[in-house]
Amino acid sequence: MKGLVLTAQWDPRPDYHVSEWERTTGKAVTGSSVWRRPRLSLEALTEPALGANDVLLRPQACGVCGSDVHFYETDAQGYMLYPGLTKFPVVIGHEFSGEIVEVGAGVTELVPGDMVTCEEMIWCGECTPCRNGYPNQCLRLEEIGFTINGAQSEYLAIGAKYCWKIKALVERYGTKEKAYEAGALCEPTSVAYNAMFTRAEGFKPGGHVAVFGTGPIGFAAIALARAAGAARIIAFEVATVRQELARKVGADVVLDPLALERQGTKPRDAILELTEGEGAAMLVEAAGAPPRTIPEMEAAMAVGGKIVMIGRASERAPVYLEHFQTHAAQIYGAQGHSGYGNFPNVIRLMASGRIDLTPIITSRFTLDQGVEAIEKATRREDGKVMIKAA
Ligand SMILES: [Zn+2]
Ligand SMILES: [Zn+2]
Repeated sequence: MKGLVLTAQWDPRPDYHVSEWERTTGKAVTGSSVWRRPRLSLEALTEPALGANDVLLRPQACGVCGSDVHFYETDAQGYMLYPGLTKFPVVIGHEFSGEIVEVGAGVTELVPGDMVTCEEMIWCGECTPCRNGYPNQCLRLEEIGFTINGAQSEYLAIGAKYCWKIKALVERYGTKEKAYEAGALCEPTSVAYNAMFTRAEGFKPGGHVAVFGTGPIGFAAIALARAAGAARIIAFEVATVRQELARKVGADVVLDPLALERQGTKPRDAILELTEGEGAAMLVEAAGAPPRTIPEMEAAMAVGGKIVMIGRASERAPVYLEHFQTHAAQIYGAQGHSGYGNFPNVIRLMASGRIDLTPIITSRFTLDQGVEAIEKATRREDGKVMIKAA
């Protein structure tokens, strides 16, 4: 079978301390400090072995994530930009849906022919964080498409416990093909859902919501904020195509922070003006630029406001804590999407038509065009680039 493989050299930066765990597992905790000279190619691979509790999946649609782009892009020293947990070489692809073609002997809930989408966080269920209800903080975490093989391939074996049926999406979208596309958007949408509603426990209907950065996570945050009853949704985005898509999925006002800067004003001023000085009840960081976004967000929080941190960056951000005290405000860190009803709730929201993120898909490629697809995504002229079964 074929798969889209990312290879990189293990070459830790001189100032990076490689832990014993990293050395023995071959996994880098801070990918951007370890992996150098990444390369991407379509390769012939052996079909994955099927464990007793696994299903064999034929991926039908798999989105290209900002993380995939950050594996591929490098800084001036040739280090990849992605700052998180990684082990290479790996088949990339973690936002996907597919058809089950075979099930292991111990699988009881799924059968060949089932349409599913899957979690990307492979939590063990046995370590202390897992047992305490924190699957996204699993100590033995593997991540599909980051540390173990992903879905940009013809087949993928995955534990049945990470799969969620998406049959309900066929009714909403009319065809299996469209349902698979929507199904592939469940993973990034569940990341936003987990951060805004599970970790930060949402906002009251009627509150204002600001979203910084409208890549796919930002789009999902906008759609979810609208479904949850936000009064006004204000988004900040520099790319023109994405500004347009942000409006399409439900933003009321979309502003370009660079244009604001040229006018001598800032996102904080815009939010305060648009909310009659009251600020936003929830502010979502989906730009991965906390040194620039956090100061804007904290200055534009409503009393009782919540900042939700989803974008990833290996940088410190200045935080003026006094403002959090005077505003009874908080900041929530979130990663992942597993547990707490996140996936099934997102699937139901899609099936009921309360959210529809399919308009963000702006380019479609086949697996054979995989490298081309990632190249296209680096140009940042798309909402979501999707790679589909031929
Ligand atoms: Zn992703
Ligand atoms: Zn665990």
